[in-house]
Amino acid sequence: MRALKLYNTLLTSLAAVAATAAVASAQIRVVATTPDFAALAREIGGDRVNVVALAKPTEDPHFVDAKPSHVVTLNRANALIEGGAELELGWLPPLLENSRNAKLSAGTPGHIVASDGIRLLEVPTSFDRSKGDVHSLGNPHFLLDPVAAKTVAANIANHFAQIDPKNAATYRSNLSRFNAKLDAKLVDWQKTLAPYRGAKIVTYHKDFNYFASRFGLSIVDELEPKPGIAPSPSHLAQVIGKMRSTKARVILVQPFQNRKTAETVARQASGIVVDYSQQPGAAGNGPSYIDMIDHLVTTLAKAFGSAK
Ligand SMILES: [Zn+2]
Repeated sequence: MRALKLYNTLLTSLAAVAATAAVASAQIRVVATTPDFAALAREIGGDRVNVVALAKPTEDPHFVDAKPSHVVTLNRANALIEGGAELELGWLPPLLENSRNAKLSAGTPGHIVASDGIRLLEVPTSFDRSKGDVHSLGNPHFLLDPVAAKTVAANIANHFAQIDPKNAATYRSNLSRFNAKLDAKLVDWQKTLAPYRGAKIVTYHKDFNYFASRFGLSIVDELEPKPGIAPSPSHLAQVIGKMRSTKARVILVQPFQNRKTAETVARQASGIVVDYSQQPGAAGNGPSYIDMIDHLVTTLAKAFGSAK
């Protein structure tokens, strides 16, 4: 009797495990190259998706440390979200090839290119990668513009609906909810930054241009002479001169950029170094896209206030 009871208990728990596994397997397994795309995928997919990001929030999206485990993750995925515009050119193509996953092939519903439908800034008239410029198709850091985030979210929702048509209505309603939240926040963000319209900033890399153009900030120069090229003393001397003549005081740096270089420039130009990250989950940022922009807006308002 006792044995039978044990057996029944075991059967019940096995059934529970099987049910959990069925729910888990019904979820779309989504791999995003970076945490910002992953955060948008979670907004749209909700509990219908399982999302992982390949890059850590503290990694440079152009130069992610590729690991064998990334190949395994990609091999098991139903969908991939990449930035496009060659953001991940330096590390994603070999991982994708080794993953041998036809579901992620270009042109299939499982291959989501975030830049589809985005009007890229700084698209060069001639194509030239030879000088080491990592933005040879235009600037791929569009997700810092909240309006661009809406386009990317719609793109993700379209693909999820094709991969999982049964839940298409859920993805559409999650998209509407996200857009409504973002639109309301955008009004607040515009209001917070309105007093600093035209404020002059310097960035380390050309990664702030979409945000600056959305909120009316003016980028005076970058510490890198070209995207992906390390700062040289002669270029930094030029930046210091420009900061002095334009009275730009704020230098923005991300966790993976060389803060020491920024500090040296700041010292000589009477500026301040301001830390930020364009990735949800990085220090100071909450887990969602909206949290991340919220924190960035607050950080900037504080910096501009103190640099006046
Ligand atoms: Zn870049």
